[in-house]
Amino acid sequence: MTDGRALAQRYFEQQRLLGGDAVILPRASGMGAGASGTTAPAPSPSPESQTPSPQAPAPSPGLSFDPPTADLFATDPIQQTTSLTDIATLVAACRKCGLCEARTNTVPGEGPATARLVVVGEGPGRTEDETGRPFVGRAGELLTKILAAINLPREQVFICNVVKCRPPENRLPQYDEIAACVPYLYRQIELLKPKVILAMGGTAAQTLLNTKQSLGALRNQLHRFRGIPLVVTYHPAALLRNPNWKRPTWDDVRIAARLLGN
Ligand code: URA
Ligand code: SF4
Repeated sequence: MTDGRALAQRYFEQQRLLGGDAVILPRASGMGAGASGTTAPAPSPSPESQTPSPQAPAPSPGLSFDPPTADLFATDPIQQTTSLTDIATLVAACRKCGLCEARTNTVPGEGPATARLVVVGEGPGRTEDETGRPFVGRAGELLTKILAAINLPREQVFICNVVKCRPPENRLPQYDEIAACVPYLYRQIELLKPKVILAMGGTAAQTLLNTKQSLGALRNQLHRFRGIPLVVTYHPAALLRNPNWKRPTWDDVRIAARLLGN
């Protein structure tokens, strides 16, 4: 028992020496001789957890193979968020892309942290920019009706967009704007852990599935985003322009409902 520990200790000391440089070497060898040869300390699970005796020098911090903190991403403020509110706070102050210049309000998204369905659109329009809330204009009214039709009050759904600030004149968000903003969406989904994601329109579908395939090619297949079932359908604003797409949208949304168990 004690022999095994002494052996292990010597092994770790050797590892330290092999990885160490000339400055550490003399200090380390002094400690090694004392620690492995004399009285055995009380049993403990591993050599690292032994508390050093007062006269022994502290182990050199430079030789640990462990990362400096538990979380490798600890310097990334988005990864550090622990709630949807945290994310909204970061978004409110965000200036990572040019869309910050013309915005009135940021539109981080809204809905309960317990939402089982996450709806992802493209980006805020005029009414959304004015109110700071997603899908509250005409397209939003239609979305609310679509959700009600599968027995989902919109208050139970988390509704958000790929970009959190309004693109001027409702133009498509550019690639660099999407790249700057999408970490917020990813973190929202990570925290929400929804049962199903409904991607509405080409921007949401292509962004979440990391593809350039057309909406038409992406519909009618069940996809996954990090393991979460993802349904692709038309954007409600497109339905307002082209009512022929209402029927296929209804089919898509029913698939999402079935996946939710509704
Ligand atoms: N269109 C979108 O994509 N998102 C909104 O929030 C409103 C309209
Ligand atoms: Fe930041 Fe996204 Fe707004 Fe760009 S669109 S400023 S990345 S919150």
